[in-house]
Amino acid sequence: MAEPTDSTRAPPVDLYIGLGANLGDAADAVRRAAARLAQTPGILDLRLSPLYCSAPIDSSGPDYVNAVAHARTTLDPQAVLAVLQAIEQVHGRERPYRNAPRTLDLDLLLYGRRRVDTANLTVPHPRMHERAFVLRPLADLAPGLILAQGHLEDLLAACGDQAIRPLDQPAP
Ligand code: ATP
Ligand code: CA
Ligand code: CA
Repeated sequence: MAEPTDSTRAPPVDLYIGLGANLGDAADAVRRAAARLAQTPGILDLRLSPLYCSAPIDSSGPDYVNAVAHARTTLDPQAVLAVLQAIEQVHGRERPYRNAPRTLDLDLLLYGRRRVDTANLTVPHPRMHERAFVLRPLADLAPGLILAQGHLEDLLAACGDQAIRPLDQPAP
């Protein structure tokens, strides 16, 4: 008899999540969001990159604090998105207009090698390859990673005009 299909028995998938905030205590929001993610059933072995500061792009307000988290997950991509949006809500996320300053932004960057293209979810995240604030912390967690657009380190070098610095390093 065939084994029943049970998604909870599927091997965990590598998951990368982008975290960003630029209102209130942004570093605290990023760290607390990562802690919540780490406690979520189905999200395993979470590692948070170092935190970085970056100036807003196509946006306004104070500098952003950004990081990337890696985990392994048994959740499907839509379930991951629901978890991310629930954590954003806990942090009081509002969307008054596009690219508005935010208390917390959680983006699903990569879900294994899976591509998702639905009305509310596109994976890999369609703009991650052109953003230093994603690629820099991603390079800490996954050096040598190859994305659809090329090698991570090459893509990061192409973002050289985007100012980004470690959180503990004062602005020049
Ligand atoms: P950007 O996507 O350019 O980083 P943003 O993070 O400011 O912009 P949001 O307002 O947070 O955009 O999200 C808008 C919508 O994007 C969400 O309602 C969500 O359904 C959708 N979305 C599509 N793909 C993703 C993804 N990979 N991760 C998170 N949200 C996504
Ligand atoms: Ca985003
Ligand atoms: Ca988002």
